[in-house]
Amino acid sequence: MAKKKNEGLSARQIKLKENLLERKRKMWNELREEFFGKLGREYNSQFDTSNDLEDLSILDALEDTGLAVADIKKKQLEELDESLRKIDEGTYGVCSNCGTEIDDGRLKVEPFAELCVACKKESEQGAKKPTL
Ligand SMILES: [Zn+2]
Repeated sequence: MAKKKNEGLSARQIKLKENLLERKRKMWNELREEFFGKLGREYNSQFDTSNDLEDLSILDALEDTGLAVADIKKKQLEELDESLRKIDEGTYGVCSNCGTEIDDGRLKVEPFAELCVACKKESEQGAKKPTL
């Protein structure tokens, strides 16, 4: 129990947060692999000194290459950061429609889910109606 960082968060929120952070780590690893794989190892030395995995200069450099993957990853990372912020605010994992807690299992699969299962179903049914 050395971590003081998560003070004020419930056990559930801490778990969700760890889940998101894990996802973030993975995403950065993928991004690095993608980046160095596509652009060659000479870029690696440029960024290798950084202990900070969240090196935004990688994103910038990747963006300069015009690779579509940069945009996608960047958006995902922004969503992740947004979710992490929400956790600290205590608004993460709560259905934006009805205010009930979203099922943890659902959040694991869809970390950016904003609706609970019931509301999601409802909105999907509504969306599936022919719009003519
Ligand atoms: Zn709901």
